[in-house]
Amino acid sequence: MNNAFTVDLEDWYHVCNVEELSDPSLWDSYESRVVRNTETVLALLREYRVKATFFVLGYIAHKEPGLIRTIRKEGHEIATHGFYHRRVFEMTEDEFEEDMGRSIEIISSITGERVIGFRAPEWSIRKHTPWALDILRKLGILYDSSMVPLTRMGERDYPLYPVKFNTRYGDIWEFPLTTMRLFLENLPFTGGLPLRMTPYFYIVSKIKIMNRKGHPAIVYIHPWEIDSERPKIELPLSRRFMHYFNLKSTSQKIRGLLEHLSFAPVRDVLGITA
Ligand SMILES: [Zn+2]
Repeated sequence: MNNAFTVDLEDWYHVCNVEELSDPSLWDSYESRVVRNTETVLALLREYRVKATFFVLGYIAHKEPGLIRTIRKEGHEIATHGFYHRRVFEMTEDEFEEDMGRSIEIISSITGERVIGFRAPEWSIRKHTPWALDILRKLGILYDSSMVPLTRMGERDYPLYPVKFNTRYGDIWEFPLTTMRLFLENLPFTGGLPLRMTPYFYIVSKIKIMNRKGHPAIVYIHPWEIDSERPKIELPLSRRFMHYFNLKSTSQKIRGLLEHLSFAPVRDVLGITA
């Protein structure tokens, strides 16, 4: 069974909820490391012959169109991560539509293809943003991967596995973040800080058990997670932990997963043919 391998394509300073980093007019003054880091990710995927989905930030596509073309040329799926890396619940309905429209436009103008997938920065679709799926579908998005069935990071009763939702504009797939049941909670373990904290054998065996039950898992990385030399920034303690804890383990664990499991882009795992 194929699992989904995904990359959130953004630079090291795209951190939510940190005042100093939230002003896009300052972003051009930061050192850009996204091309080099993404090339490392691409080399890794090439080595294991895995095709993935890249959720590309519109801002990065605008700055580095050549990088997006390279990713597409290597056979990966290009989806979107919004334009300015704003969390959905921080935007009004209109702001979300504008940010999404802008990102879809720039990305599809580079690839010449329709953009059908979306992942929200920090999994930020919530119950109080019920308009989000409607807007996504209205803009031609056919699958979303932004829900986490966990209190605080998402909503406790979000789906555990891929499911179709109805919107005013037609059906849309949701591929929620993969979680495992532990201490009465659904805990993530297939990307970011949770992947770095969970022992490797545990991650693989949990995914294999899921696959045997007929459920695909979704794995994700950020290019900055494999960059041990990126600039250090002052972050609140919780974010510092999230962004720096045990970064070295990411590459090793990702290599193991690429070797021991089967992966494909999200659209193929969901069987979307558009
Ligand atoms: Zn992000």
